Amino acid sequence: MKILAYGVRDDEKPFLEEWEKQNPDVEVKAVPELITDETVEWAKGFDGVDVYQQLPYTDTVFEKLASYGIHNVSLRNVGVDNMNPEAVKKYDMKVTNVPVYSPAAIAEFSVTQLLNLLRRTKEYFHKFERNDYRWAPQISHELNDQVVGVIGTGHIGQVAINIYKGFGAKVIAYDVYHNPELEKEGLYVDTLEELYKQATVVTLHIPLFPTTEHMLNKEAFDQMKDGVFVVNASRGPLIDEKALIDALDSGKVAGAALDVLEDETKVFNHDMAGQNMDYPEFWNLNTRDNVLISPHTAFYTDVAVKNMVQYSLSANKDLIETGESDKLVKFD
Ligand code: NAD
Repeated sequence: MKILAYGVRDDEKPFLEEWEKQNPDVEVKAVPELITDETVEWAKGFDGVDVYQQLPYTDTVFEKLASYGIHNVSLRNVGVDNMNPEAVKKYDMKVTNVPVYSPAAIAEFSVTQLLNLLRRTKEYFHKFERNDYRWAPQISHELNDQVVGVIGTGHIGQVAINIYKGFGAKVIAYDVYHNPELEKEGLYVDTLEELYKQATVVTLHIPLFPTTEHMLNKEAFDQMKDGVFVVNASRGPLIDEKALIDALDSGKVAGAALDVLEDETKVFNHDMAGQNMDYPEFWNLNTRDNVLISPHTAFYTDVAVKNMVQYSLSANKDLIETGESDKLVKFD
């Protein structure tokens, strides 16, 4: 059995080689190029393909794969928004993804960034750059003294809650679905308004849907406590960045940690040195000492990458052998 893995980065290779050793019946060829109308031709003679890219998967890619008798595409990531569902169906493709690879990676990062905000590390870093080693007046805050409002208590939100409890913070939570364990602990509030009213920290761990886009907008910020801290390691469009800028200006929001941005593909994953950038909100936010921006790196740990690589290869092998996988994506 032969699998062609596209877009393989150097940091993924050791995990891919480890998987190959554990699956001696499978030969995996790894190439750094993404799958395009041209590179798809390299898949001729393979049984399945394994992929990871933000670049769109064109309809031609699926058409050509089907013409080579390949109907198995395994993603090393979660999102399928760069695939046309109609093309997937038309060419009878079975697509798998890796919906859960390491919730701890994202939860730990979001807590780390909140701690950095609370302890004002960016401000101290800039003072150090100016040879200013005075500690006052940047008085900071303690996590154990916060009321952390967790929105979304799924895989990542639950890990975050456990970490916050370990720090001694008071945790309250909001979710449309109530996890029975957390329910027993009495963590849930009934409405977002209630969470906004009580929380000194609001952290987002929910998916982006049309209904959750701009969930944190002017109206939401207005309902929050003065001096609230906001953390978003979920999806950029959950926050209306213009409203966040106004809330930072007014002091309503004391600081924000953003691993994701509304228009992040303009900036993230590019070397922008010396380049013009048409993203005024990014410039505005990034120049503030009380805003921490990271380029969607919350997920990027050795554990997560290993799982993304190995779960996707195993799913591709399952598809090739049986036509089935517990990681099949449903496109309707
Ligand atoms: P999950 O599906 O396990 O949990 C999401 C939770 O959100 C569920 O409990 C669901 O009931 C709840 N929810 C859905 N809509 C809601 C709404 N309108 N109001 C309140 N709650 C709602 O997902 P997860 O694995 O915990 O991931 C959460 C999000 O983290 C993902 O959707 C993704 O956007 C983001 N993420 C970010 C990174 C990163 O590197 N920054 C990596 C992976 C995932």
